[in-house]
Amino acid sequence: MNKIIEKDKKYLIQCYTTDDIAFTNAKGMYLYDSEGKKYLDFSGQFSACSLGHGNEEMIGALKDQLEKIVSVTSCFATEERAALAEKMIEISPEGLDKVMFGCTGSDANEFALKLAKYYRGGGRIISFRRGFHGSTAGAAAATGKSEMIQENSGISELLPRGFVHSAPPYCYHCDFGKEPGTCGLQCLKYLEQTMLHEGGDKIAAVISEPIFAAGGVIVPPKGFWKGVRELCDKYGALLIFDEVVTGIGQTGTMFACQYEGVTPDILVTGKALTSGYVPGSAVLCRKEIGEAMSKINLHGHTHSCYPLTCRSALKNIEIIERDGLVENSRVVGDYLHSRLLELKDKYPVIKDVRGRGLLQGMELEGTPTEDKYVLGQEFYESMLRGGLVTELESRKNLENVVVVMHPALITSKENVDEAVAVIEKSLIECLK
Ligand code: PLP
Repeated sequence: MNKIIEKDKKYLIQCYTTDDIAFTNAKGMYLYDSEGKKYLDFSGQFSACSLGHGNEEMIGALKDQLEKIVSVTSCFATEERAALAEKMIEISPEGLDKVMFGCTGSDANEFALKLAKYYRGGGRIISFRRGFHGSTAGAAAATGKSEMIQENSGISELLPRGFVHSAPPYCYHCDFGKEPGTCGLQCLKYLEQTMLHEGGDKIAAVISEPIFAAGGVIVPPKGFWKGVRELCDKYGALLIFDEVVTGIGQTGTMFACQYEGVTPDILVTGKALTSGYVPGSAVLCRKEIGEAMSKINLHGHTHSCYPLTCRSALKNIEIIERDGLVENSRVVGDYLHSRLLELKDKYPVIKDVRGRGLLQGMELEGTPTEDKYVLGQEFYESMLRGGLVTELESRKNLENVVVVMHPALITSKENVDEAVAVIEKSLIECLK
């Protein structure tokens, strides 16, 4: 076995399903393993790597920042923090006027939940099954991967109470057996019933991703988010959009909620904020919510508002705006979507293709066995052998698997053609 993998397996707590590949370097859209093999990166570190790998401008800015100032307690302002705060308010939906910076999507979601609870004076949090919000206690409790948590009941004891999961707006597997267009948005009606049952006007917040990424790229039906906004207004609950995956251009608008025309009370972003060059996240909110939390010293981490994070986010947004990368995400994302639909027409094993911008998912008919999905797993491994990195979403309570793709915002149509060629070759190989 390769020495890197051997050491890794021996010493690291293997929290992840690992693929027996060690990556040693990367450039642009490509990753290179320890054997020198090249892989097209269509995972983009789960949408974190917006500028692609090894961006020289970003590296230059970070080197400069390392020499300037790296670590300072967040009690003090820094040039980078103030500039990024101003920039974030400028690029986010109107009405969000305050911001706080963190390190990960999970800690940002914890803060968002804390803000909501504090502002509302307590109350339950409603989220959706199949939504994903992170690994820390509150974020994990909001996460709707219930089967994972139930299977690990020891861990479920760590989760705080007061989180309730509503039915996901998952048209392809509608909980109510309805068809899109004629469903009367049953999932929205169910949400209202859930809100009424769980406290009505005492609900603290509804939290969700605008498009459920890790849950299988679930794009809610038209009108769903407008309806959720109305319900939140009706019962006084805050609406939190977790845009840790969808934010900063991945779905073809700076934030996915801008496409929907729905503004949340609190918006969380992470991953792509810094293009993954250093960890970083942000929570934006309405002025009065942010001001209520100000000066009470109830939140902060050692590396909150870390100057290196702020500098990389500033550089990232500067490059994204200058190079029109949000527009590129929309145009190339549409192209990726159409190429995947072509595959769907050719191969009936592809059941659904969905997504927006450069966040796309392809749902395949799986072949469930005791503990894995044969087609999904074989297919994923075959794509890896073919030099394509994607993500696989499989659940025991679902018969299908979803191949999730969120490549960098710099993805070109040629990259899409290269990826689709590998996908097709792998399909043919697995369907033999
Ligand atoms: N929210 C969403 C939608 C995510 O997909 C993730 C991670 O994948 C998180 C939050 C947690 O972010 P992090 O892994 O940076 O803590």
